[in-house]
Amino acid sequence: MKKSLIAIGIIALIQSSCMQDSKINQPTLGKFSIAIHGGAGNIEKMNLSPEQQKEYIHVMDSALHVGYEFLKSGGSSVDAVERVIMVLEDCPLFNAGKGSVFNHDGIIEMDAAIMDGKTLDAGAIAGVTKIKNPISAAKLIMRKSNSVFLYGDGAESFVSEKGMKLVDPSYFFTQSRWEQLQNALKKDDGMQLDHGDESDKSTNNKSSEGKYGTVGCVALDQNGNLAAGTSTGGLVNKKYKRIGDSPIIGAGTFAENNVCAVSCTGRGEDFIKNTIAYDIASQIKYAEKSLYEAVSSSIQTKLKSNNGRGGCVAIDKEGNVVFNFTTTGMFRGSANSEGKFFTSIYR
Ligand code: ASP
Repeated sequence: MKKSLIAIGIIALIQSSCMQDSKINQPTLGKFSIAIHGGAGNIEKMNLSPEQQKEYIHVMDSALHVGYEFLKSGGSSVDAVERVIMVLEDCPLFNAGKGSVFNHDGIIEMDAAIMDGKTLDAGAIAGVTKIKNPISAAKLIMRKSNSVFLYGDGAESFVSEKGMKLVDPSYFFTQSRWEQLQNALKKDDGMQLDHGDESDKSTNNKSSEGKYGTVGCVALDQNGNLAAGTSTGGLVNKKYKRIGDSPIIGAGTFAENNVCAVSCTGRGEDFIKNTIAYDIASQIKYAEKSLYEAVSSSIQTKLKSNNGRGGCVAIDKEGNVVFNFTTTGMFRGSANSEGKFFTSIYR
């Protein structure tokens, strides 16, 4: 009897030390965190009226509350990212969904991607013209197709076969975006990005009115799962079916549990060439850098030294959030399980 009690005691000790070991790499369960961006660029106080600033902050705050409540109730990070991005897509202020910019031919073509850090599943769409919430279409592709990336009317056929209602492209028309295109056409100034970026002029870049109004979201849920999503109308006056970084996994969007989740915004070509989202993740994964170090090195060293314009939001397995950008401003915000909410626009 005595011997068997001792044996049980030893087994219990071994079990508890094994459990402690297996916890070392686990995120802290129960904690959650969410962060967003609404585009980066030449965003300075003098470019926005106090009313406009209030409006941007109000919409970002509302989106964060949607994500916060959902994560608090135990919702998954993937669904939180989708819900939060839908709020931003439905708002004409941002260059995604309803507020998307026009291409050279006066058509609105949207791109989006979502990634589930738990499974590494991803879904992406590009060049769609009839999908009200491109982020939901990306999620449908991730969950219900055998593909990762669908394009144009093919993507629209797939989601409509799966029951998603398509909308008439006229839904996306906004007068301000139309005028933005007319200005770009008048200036014969090549592709433009969404928030004016004077510094692009110094680079001799044809996109001299650099504007980056894409939206993105990253989240950590109470089960330690990370997710990222990005949605955009791309560049004003874009031509030739140009696609940016937002729907490209590893460039504008990436998530992997126990590593990080990232969503980028900026001149897409720079983010594609520098594979920014995965560059951040790989530094954490293989070089054991902190989120802060990895993001700074990818944005302030790699992207900047290659003349890259834009920024990102990133989150790690502990729910730490880092924002970083090479532009003068980036619409951004975060919320976490401690009830801390943050929003900001300028540097
Ligand atoms: N990254 C997007 C693109 O190049 C633009 C943006 O962030 O506003 O399409």
